[in-house]
Amino acid sequence: MTLSQNFFTLMQRIRECEKKYHKPENSVHLLAASKMQSAESMRNLYQLGQIAFGENKVQEALEKMQLLADLNIEWHFIGSIQRNKTRKIAEHFAWVHSVADALIAKRLNDQRPSHLPPLNVCIEVNLDQENTKSGVAIKEAFALAAFCAAQNHLKLRGLMAIPAFKQTFEEQANTFHILKSLRDDLNAQGMNLDILSMGMTQDFEAAISQDANIVRIGSALFGAR
Ligand SMILES: *Cc1c(COP(=O)(O)O)cnc(C)c1O
Repeated sequence: MTLSQNFFTLMQRIRECEKKYHKPENSVHLLAASKMQSAESMRNLYQLGQIAFGENKVQEALEKMQLLADLNIEWHFIGSIQRNKTRKIAEHFAWVHSVADALIAKRLNDQRPSHLPPLNVCIEVNLDQENTKSGVAIKEAFALAAFCAAQNHLKLRGLMAIPAFKQTFEEQANTFHILKSLRDDLNAQGMNLDILSMGMTQDFEAAISQDANIVRIGSALFGAR
């Protein structure tokens, strides 16, 4: 399969899921997870109409930003965040999906250049309580969300998760349902979260069934890494 076949097939699957699960048309956004992909493939995908790209490593992203500076890409940071990388993230990205502690959030806020719009952020939640994964525990999400919402240079948008591998659609959907419920709880407590960033190549259809509106997809677009 070529990149363009992959892209159009994937977009078709996403639009079919919107219909199947009664989501508004075009309400689910594709974030192309482009870690380890060349700037050239990204340029090809952009030319097919893909604008939002997600990167996991700051250095790799900065190099690609230079090579793709003539394009109007929307850059999303989706990797784990080291303290000494916050400045580059705050300066060069439009979104961060992986905010998992208040210290990092504070640094992103303080380091966001004031001529740029507020940095869009999602709180990463560790849904399966895996020790090896980043993300806050469910019970800590409210406090971190409230902290982010109070920062002038951050715009709190929603929640993100990378669940552990699940075999079946039903197990996947059950896990994503936890994030959807958490979103609903936080909104009932006065937050204004409009984004659920969840679902990857293996499980994005289950994610859309549970209200995901950003799916982060790599392999189904670019091929296996
Ligand atoms: C790599 C990656 C993805 C995409 O994974 P695929 O299984 O290749 O679709 C999504 N989110 C994050 C945070 C990633 O690191």
